[in-house]
Amino acid sequence: MLRRLALLLATFGVLAAGPAAPVAQRHLSDFDDVVAGAASTAAGSAYTFTAVSQGRPIRWDPCTPIHWKYRTSGQVVGGFTQVVRAIARIAGATGTTWVYDGAVTTAPTSAWLPKTTSSQPPVLIGWTTAAHSDLLQGQSTGVLGVTRTSWFSVTRGTTTTTAIRGAVVALNQNKHLPLTGPTSWYTVALHELSHAMGLGHAASSKELMYPLLQPGLRDLQAGDLVGLARVGRSEGCIHL
Ligand SMILES: [Zn+2]
Repeated sequence: MLRRLALLLATFGVLAAGPAAPVAQRHLSDFDDVVAGAASTAAGSAYTFTAVSQGRPIRWDPCTPIHWKYRTSGQVVGGFTQVVRAIARIAGATGTTWVYDGAVTTAPTSAWLPKTTSSQPPVLIGWTTAAHSDLLQGQSTGVLGVTRTSWFSVTRGTTTTTAIRGAVVALNQNKHLPLTGPTSWYTVALHELSHAMGLGHAASSKELMYPLLQPGLRDLQAGDLVGLARVGRSEGCIHL
């Protein structure tokens, strides 16, 4: 018994003398909302990032496939096709691979987001209401969609690595939009999925990432595409 105890203590001693365990910290992006807007000529940044860590935008590991699920409850007729289109567009703009994991009835809420780095749940996207999702609670009635991401910074010694590990996208079930064209569910999905990838709002109203969807914009614009490339595969892999 004493020998066993001594062995345990010795083992503990060896572990304690090793390098410090990695320290992981969880962060949540602020809620974001997009609404339909009147034509604007606002100028400014063509793209921004949700957050920057050590001079680099936070982003997913673009070398690991991003899985996603779709909420069927409360869905808009024809909406799934537009979400699939938007995901293919975002995948192409970022060089990431997206894998569809099937349908769920769970509402997109903050509870879906990972709390530790041990899991990377699928991105959840779907229509819901303020009564069923904290993402839409307290938002103006004009809000079309809200996205929240969960990202982690892990420090090993003097090195800190960051990566997004989860996202939920809530589309407002009470709004009535066309499926495609300007200010449509397709453009709302593109806007929200760009947030999910790590983009913030553009100050320029020429971009789809402007917080007010602009008449005439039916797709990602030049600045949006530059921003998406900067959080994509061309920037290299991330090992969290
Ligand atoms: Zn937005």
